[in-house]
Amino acid sequence: MSAYTRMNKIGRGSYGDVFKVTRNSDGKVLVIKEVSLLGVSKEEENEILNETEIIKKLDHRHIVSCVESFVENDVLHIVMEYASGGDLAAVIKRNSAAGKYITEEQFWSYLIQITLGLQHMHSRRVLHRDVKASNVFLDQNGDIKIGDLGLGKVLSSKTTCAISQVGTPIYFSPEICEGKPYDTKSDVWALGCLLFELVTCKPPFQAANQPQLLKKIVNDPPEAHVPSHYSREIPFIIGKLLDKDPRKRPSPDSILNYSAVQIRIERAR
Ligand code: ADP
Ligand code: MG
Repeated sequence: MSAYTRMNKIGRGSYGDVFKVTRNSDGKVLVIKEVSLLGVSKEEENEILNETEIIKKLDHRHIVSCVESFVENDVLHIVMEYASGGDLAAVIKRNSAAGKYITEEQFWSYLIQITLGLQHMHSRRVLHRDVKASNVFLDQNGDIKIGDLGLGKVLSSKTTCAISQVGTPIYFSPEICEGKPYDTKSDVWALGCLLFELVTCKPPFQAANQPQLLKKIVNDPPEAHVPSHYSREIPFIIGKLLDKDPRKRPSPDSILNYSAVQIRIERAR
């Protein structure tokens, strides 16, 4: 008998369905992501399980924690913490529909919390690989929980799924567009895109097709401007995160050291 009872399906991810469940032992509400391993060799399965082990070791207040993972009937089950406050995609959609903007302080608070989560991942040599508004959740207190971690690489190459595109092309970094390997700075670029979208309600680069999109990402400045009612520090920091040159793009450590960020960290203490 399973240790969990399914409540309802809350989403369909790129790799499989996501269910809200309760843990039978204590009634705790959790989430299970199911990934089909049909057609995956034992060796590849082990590689995927290794990756989930690494993710399980992450322990940070701004990262959705992974409770356990197991394989049952050729389906990988990833049991994780439930983030009940929705995701940042919903925040953007709501604001956009109402013609509203997040506040200056909300922006800095999200920036700091997501950066802290990324800093933890990167310090454990885990790349997120798919930072985007719909993968950044809010908990019941409105605090950030980054979800959907790091499995991008193993899953995309190992599982036969309908949508095997890893990462969202609109958040592809210039180096990825040029076929270079994904690294920590590519996560930082994606964070820049997400923050840009939070204050403009639009991704920085959009195009009718992928080749045009990649060309814009590599060559052009972002299409929209950060609204002028925000402090100049917001377009400044987003500009740094969206530096085309990954070497000039700040690491999470450097982001947290900017004076505009330091001031807010101090204030929150
Ligand atoms: P995608 O591949 O599109 O990113 P996911 O597999 O991450 O999809 O998740 C599918 C949906 O399930 C998401 O849109 C989200 O609403 C929900 N979801 C995923 N993980 C969680 C979680 N830990 N807490 C709450 N909802 C979640
Ligand atoms: Mg996701």
